Amino acid sequence: MKGLDHFSIPIFGLKNGVHTFKYEMDDKVFSNFDYGILKKGNFDVEVTLEKIDESMEFSFIAKGYIEVDCDRCTANIKMPLLTEESYIIEFGETPSNIDNIITVLISDHYLNIAPYIYESLSLSIPMVKLIDCEDEEKKPCDENILNYLNKETESEPTNSIWNSLKDIKFKK
Ligand SMILES: [Zn+2]
Repeated sequence: MKGLDHFSIPIFGLKNGVHTFKYEMDDKVFSNFDYGILKKGNFDVEVTLEKIDESMEFSFIAKGYIEVDCDRCTANIKMPLLTEESYIIEFGETPSNIDNIITVLISDHYLNIAPYIYESLSLSIPMVKLIDCEDEEKKPCDENILNYLNKETESEPTNSIWNSLKDIKFKK
């Protein structure tokens, strides 16, 4: 995987104990996964690998944001996201990832952890993409559109989608 080499961990050669690794995941990293929905964002990822003889636990915490179109006003927003996940790594004869148990071949001296982190991040993206920016000085949301939507709400009280937006108020 081009551009993801630094995510390869020499799991076989690791000594027993706890090992931590720090990574940054950004658009460049995400571009390796062209099938994915996560394209833009930035995350600091802290990876912990604990090896006890033949078994290993791999966990990570990713803190950062994704860049998406706001579901309310379509402006480009940076939505904060925090994701944690842990896996058990086992050695076996057939590589697999079922129920967070990653099976790797003993002949695979390295495990590239980027796809696992990418998948977890993608799965943690909420269906509705909104941020609470009302108290921010520079609102990323497009207030013109929001005000327009609020007016629409008043004239269409039966539309349930706009009904939920009805209570959004802005400081004048
Ligand atoms: Zn918005």
